[in-house]
Amino acid sequence: MQNPPSVPDHWDVEADVVVVGFGAAGMATAVTAHELGAKVVLLEKAPEGEEGGNTRVAGQGYLNTSSVESAIAYLTALCGPYTVPDAMMQVWAEEMCKNNDWLAGLGGDPQEHQHPPVGIEFPDLPGADCVHKFHDGPTYGYSYTWKLFERLVKERPIQILYETPGRALIQHDITKEILGVRAERGGKTIAVKARKGVVLTCGGFENNQDMIRNYLPGVPYCYTSGSPYNEGDGITMAMAVGADLWHMNNYAGPSLALKVPEVRTSFSMQALHYSKEIPGGMIVVGPDGRRFADEKFKTRHGKVPVNGVWLPLSTPCPMYLIVDQALFASGPLYDKHPSHGWTQIIERYEWSPDNKVELAKGWIKTADSIAALAQVIGLDPTRLQDSVTRWNDHCSAGRDADFGRNLMMTPIGAGPYYAVELSPSMLNTQGGPRRNERGQIVRPDGSPIPRLYSSGELGSIYSYLYQGTGNLGECLAFGRVSGRNAAAEAPWG
Ligand SMILES: Cc1cc2nc3c(=O)[nH]c(=O)nc-3n(C[C@H](O)[C@H](O)[C@H](O)COP(=O)(O)OP(=O)(O)OC[C@H]3O[C@@H](n4cnc5c(N)ncnc54)[C@H](O)[C@@H]3O)c2cc1C
Repeated sequence: MQNPPSVPDHWDVEADVVVVGFGAAGMATAVTAHELGAKVVLLEKAPEGEEGGNTRVAGQGYLNTSSVESAIAYLTALCGPYTVPDAMMQVWAEEMCKNNDWLAGLGGDPQEHQHPPVGIEFPDLPGADCVHKFHDGPTYGYSYTWKLFERLVKERPIQILYETPGRALIQHDITKEILGVRAERGGKTIAVKARKGVVLTCGGFENNQDMIRNYLPGVPYCYTSGSPYNEGDGITMAMAVGADLWHMNNYAGPSLALKVPEVRTSFSMQALHYSKEIPGGMIVVGPDGRRFADEKFKTRHGKVPVNGVWLPLSTPCPMYLIVDQALFASGPLYDKHPSHGWTQIIERYEWSPDNKVELAKGWIKTADSIAALAQVIGLDPTRLQDSVTRWNDHCSAGRDADFGRNLMMTPIGAGPYYAVELSPSMLNTQGGPRRNERGQIVRPDGSPIPRLYSSGELGSIYSYLYQGTGNLGECLAFGRVSGRNAAAEAPWG
């Protein structure tokens, strides 16, 4: 029978299961499908050494829940009014309880991580005691869990094609089955055949400003602290073959960070870290020159309580960190501790110990008075001076009457003064093509697109609140689900 026009006459690469994206989800999918006898090819957009996506630079914790019932109760509460089908909850909870056993069975070494106090993000919600966070390797961070994931793929005959981004899904015109992927390699388009199925595991849209503007609430722009290769490609590819989307407005952010054109990812500032007491005075103001939040509040992955619900932290852009000479002189403004984050682990930008290089680059602005600094950064001088005076009054009174900040209650002291423009930054997005309990990507009417699966943060289950380590846990859980269901498909050719 003649192939319809959408089906290539020639395939450059052939496999049973084609996995698009080599992070935690890609690993779990590829290893599972391989263990079930499938020939697996992994397509990865980044060059070798920069694969691994957000997973590589994550804090490295993954969730392993201790009870299915409690896990369902907790996830139900986390989703709140943004409900998720029961069947999805059930599979998520069952698989989340198996992450450690699965990794240990493959030679991993799960270590329980006691994040202070225990790392339960919403301890008051029902079922919260199901949360147990693990990592692999001697300590949390430093890509240790990723190193296990990388090894699990590389010790198997799974072909990895680096610098080969998936660009489009190849769909049969009549049956609508997904038959493969058109990818870019060495400046050419190649056709990659998937005899059984394609699994999209290519992460979120953290580095796609158009999608951020259109889908994330309250941020005109936002920058990633994770992989710059995550540009929403899986969303574009899935939409083109008829996928529905979900959870596009949910993300692990925002936080406030510096972003400069020279570096792909964001810089976290020491003084804003909730657990750090830095000498000197500091406030953050919006474009009106006024403070807008407790600068030291420990958000729940970007969400703050407002009138009894949780909303993303308000980020009136552009925002400015204003610091005095004492804080500026106390050490690097950038928190370069390399335990996690793309800037720290991959870019490894060497921030100068006295901030002078970054001052010379113009990343930090300075002036002798607050009014003059306001002029340099384009704010109203009287307003900014008022904000500083008001903050200093709060410090003298020992109480921040505006936002209840109770950390680093140090007045803004002697100049010169310094300003750093802050942008919203994030760990990761949660939205993407909607998937069902079998890991299949579905259309708006709920019917699966044949032979198309996903796992990981590309269309994550998290719709509202987020429990830290839930993303990597979900990559493992749904990676196994999608890997085994794709491997179980009858080959089409
Ligand atoms: C700093 C930081 C700390 C974090 N800490 C934690 C933590 O401790 N625990 C936790 O659970 N979560 C954490 N997260 C979130 C978590 O890292 C991610 O949600 C998770 O790693 C997503 O895994 P993934 O496999 O879905 O995607 P990724 O790990 O992002 O992998 C996606 C891969 O797809 C590739 N890709 C992109 N487009 C294409 C394409 N067109 N074709 C082929 N390949 C493509 C990318 O290069 C990348 O390698 C953190 C995130 C960050 C940024």
